[in-house]
Amino acid sequence: MYIAMVSAECAPIAKAGGLGDFVQGLSRELVRRGETVEVFLPNYDVLRLESMTGLHEVYADLPVPFHDQRLTCRVLSGELAGVRCLFIDPRPPCDFFRRGRIYGEADDPERFAWFARAVLEFMLRSGRQPDILHCQDWHTGLVPVLLFELYQALGLRHTRVCFTLHNLGYQGQVGEHILRQVGLDPSRLMVPERLRDPQDSRLANLLKGGIVYANFVNTVSPRYAWEIQNTEQGMGLQPLLKIHAHKFGGVLNGIDDQVWNPESDPLIPANFGLETLPRKALNRQALRQRLGLQDADKPILAIISRLDDQKGVDLMTHGIHYALAHDSQVVLLGTALDPAIAERFARLKQATGANPDCHLELGYDETLAHLIYAGADLLLIPSRYEPCGLTQMIAMNYGVVPIVRRVGGLADTVFDANYSDQPFEVRNGYVFDDMTDAGLESAMTRALGLWRGYPEYFRQLRVNGMRTDLSWRIPAQQYLDIYTHIRSQPA
Ligand code: ADP
Repeated sequence: MYIAMVSAECAPIAKAGGLGDFVQGLSRELVRRGETVEVFLPNYDVLRLESMTGLHEVYADLPVPFHDQRLTCRVLSGELAGVRCLFIDPRPPCDFFRRGRIYGEADDPERFAWFARAVLEFMLRSGRQPDILHCQDWHTGLVPVLLFELYQALGLRHTRVCFTLHNLGYQGQVGEHILRQVGLDPSRLMVPERLRDPQDSRLANLLKGGIVYANFVNTVSPRYAWEIQNTEQGMGLQPLLKIHAHKFGGVLNGIDDQVWNPESDPLIPANFGLETLPRKALNRQALRQRLGLQDADKPILAIISRLDDQKGVDLMTHGIHYALAHDSQVVLLGTALDPAIAERFARLKQATGANPDCHLELGYDETLAHLIYAGADLLLIPSRYEPCGLTQMIAMNYGVVPIVRRVGGLADTVFDANYSDQPFEVRNGYVFDDMTDAGLESAMTRALGLWRGYPEYFRQLRVNGMRTDLSWRIPAQQYLDIYTHIRSQPA
């Protein structure tokens, strides 16, 4: 099968969060199984190309219709661990992807709408006929719309679309002029059964476009799939998802076990596995040294996260104070886009700066993230909502016990040491329900108590997590089943 992934991110070259890991991990597993995969990305000026080989131009001057003009781009191609990546590079003076970052620009709707059209134009002009277009999130919501409104008639007849929802908090609500810019007809599309936003009828909703036009839609965990159909976590799209329930499901993400494997991870000082778990102590030591923490008989509670409302920043702050007050050390690695949240964590960093048990690192640092997973004992994830969450799964691979709120993918992957209905050998962490300090403490008290009072049981929890198959093997098969199913469908 020829699968074209279209995405705003792919780790490690363009990663802002879990979407990057998803595209990298799933693509690699599909290639391992003998499928042909090409990943289409914008040619950002912030691409990290160290791991890319054979980068070269495959298309010099591709005119892409945009509003009443044509923006020309070139297309570059390179290999990333066996996966071919194609980069869409608009020619100057267009500076869509020369902004020093992936997201967060005022013209994000224009940038990604044009990208969607450029990908299809390139496929048509270069004679590509993917069996499957696998599109991710609102940035690529216009791909299935453009395919079935324009490009199918132009020749892309066999292609079918799988559309994956990674976070309903971002839907791409835009003015209808965006549709006109990429050659779509707003009078046809701005109706309730197509792209009109359910909350604001003046706007087009690009995520909704993807849901309506794709042949199959999924989200990244079964629990989140249920939550967004049946609770306010659907963020206004519940009725739409119910209408399209016949082509909607949840597929739990995997993690790439070549990247996140403590036995072979080149970014950690001491490799370890189930048979060599005591070596984890060397990483703990290295982590303390790197971050200036004192050497003490205390567990290390870690947080590795975007710092925003979705991730439960209030509870994070409470968890940090609670852990420090209960004989533990704390390490946080996080970035905040919201200035108020950034300011708040900067103040907390200042207030805890002299504490030899606490280090807050405010920034994005892939290498440090690996060292923290390798050295920490507990990982806190108090999310308000969580489509899948990768950090709890990575943590488990590294023998770190997660403490999580029971939402979305966290509920599908973390089973409480005391209260789960799963057999003991499957229990791997601590879970709480209430989005309150008391709710969080109910789990933290038990976790810290086990670490201090019953080290053998705590070790068993680590081992249970490490034994869980969190790889892409099972989910990749589920995606292949979806692809096979939609390939046989009429358009
Ligand atoms: P998100 O909602 O941000 O996508 P996920 O849990 O799905 O959350 O994925 C987060 C990914 O980003 C993980 O690979 C995690 O290790 C990484 N990550 C998050 N914050 C940072 C940071 N500040 N530095 C390095 N890696 C980070």
